[in-house]
Amino acid sequence: MSIVDSSALNASVLVLNRHYMAVHVVNVRRAFGLLINCLAEVIHIEDGSYTNYDFQSWREISELKKNFKEQSPHDDWIRSVNFEVCVPRVLRLLYYDRLPKQKVRLNRRNIFARDANLCQYCGKRFATSELSLDHVVPTCRGGETTWENLVCACVRCNVRKGGRTPQEAGMKLIKKPIRPKRSPMLTIKLGNPKYASWKSFLDQAYWSVDLK
Ligand SMILES: [Zn+2]
Repeated sequence: MSIVDSSALNASVLVLNRHYMAVHVVNVRRAFGLLINCLAEVIHIEDGSYTNYDFQSWREISELKKNFKEQSPHDDWIRSVNFEVCVPRVLRLLYYDRLPKQKVRLNRRNIFARDANLCQYCGKRFATSELSLDHVVPTCRGGETTWENLVCACVRCNVRKGGRTPQEAGMKLIKKPIRPKRSPMLTIKLGNPKYASWKSFLDQAYWSVDLK
């Protein structure tokens, strides 16, 4: 399938293992690759019940949706040379039964997402390019590179703080930095009605266990 053009390509698809446990998130291209190669099926959730579709039947369902004008405003559509298909929100891998990676990666992107791009000192929101990472207790004072010691800070606050602890600089964090229980990027996506169907898989007790 060659995709002609579509803004829907930016959408994300939740991937479950064979046992319906969320394992990761992929982009639309990768999702259709899995479907077309029969490595995954679509899990469609409607009125609280799941239906499983292979690629062929998902195409047919998409066509029906289109013909009967049952599209939801939150649907994304991919246009190919000779057909249009609705972007599934959840896929299930047919042959993969490993468990999800539980560790949320400690990186810049995830810290900015956890802090919602708010400078943790002045509380103002900035573009990612205007934010930096700040070690709350500076590394030269034994501060570690951990979720609990890293926050995002605007350039102004970072300069003002310098190599000091917040206490020494007379600055206060707007909240205590913690290790997030699940990927902050996922938390942001869950706020989007497009991805409402992900909730039933991510709210399982499994995901609320404390991550080490
Ligand atoms: Zn600031």
